Amino acid sequence: MRTPIIAGNWKMNKTIDEALALIKEIHSGLSTPPKAEIIVAPTFTALNKIAEFLQDSFISVAVQNIFWEDSGAYTGEISAMFAKDAGADYVIIGHSERRQYFNETNETVNKKIKAALKNQLIPIVCVGETLEQREANQAENIVQQQITQGLANFTTEDLDKLIIAYEPVWAIGTGKTATPAQAEEVHIIIRKIIAELFGEDLASKMRVLYGGSVKPNNSRELLTLENIDGALIGGASLKAPDFIEIIKSI
Ligand code: PEP
Repeated sequence: MRTPIIAGNWKMNKTIDEALALIKEIHSGLSTPPKAEIIVAPTFTALNKIAEFLQDSFISVAVQNIFWEDSGAYTGEISAMFAKDAGADYVIIGHSERRQYFNETNETVNKKIKAALKNQLIPIVCVGETLEQREANQAENIVQQQITQGLANFTTEDLDKLIIAYEPVWAIGTGKTATPAQAEEVHIIIRKIIAELFGEDLASKMRVLYGGSVKPNNSRELLTLENIDGALIGGASLKAPDFIEIIKSI
């Protein structure tokens, strides 16, 4: 039985005060521990305050990106070691916005996963095709490449806790959602790729999340699918009532 995960990616939004107000509203709106693991990914600047507020709660904290070295002359970067020190337990790696705007590649994703595991951060690795790639019938190939290269040189034991998020790029922040059938189809393919690379055991226990314009009005139909183990949510995670409603739809 895979415990579902609902993760909110706050991206580059919310000042420290706004982030604290948001997490307080989410926390107080979930009076009983939900049936899913809940994760929020604030900005670097708000992360430590959010982690302090959530200490001993059922909500965990993720960092949105890391650099692969632990420390040194890398001006402007934040390493897995520092993210862990600030209170993160998870890290989002390879989000399509990082691939699109910051030259993230499958090779850098691979290095970042290595750094995350070394520092006891659980990676949430994002994969997904662009609209152009989907229209050229390349969705499966792209996801296969992202997983094979991103997870190269790890053992099955290394990836015990790793989480994959399937996020079709054309559905992120666009209001377009993959149909339940489209999403389930790729989630089955992802599990097959993991089984081929790392064995059936890991494939059947790995959590594979869906991301791309998940909202309260479509979460139930996506989250009830057999191979969808939760959601990575952008826009709707910035509104406490919407995020809570999605969590309650699990
Ligand atoms: C995301 O950024 O991971 C995402 C899925 O965004 P949105 O929910 O806004 O499409």
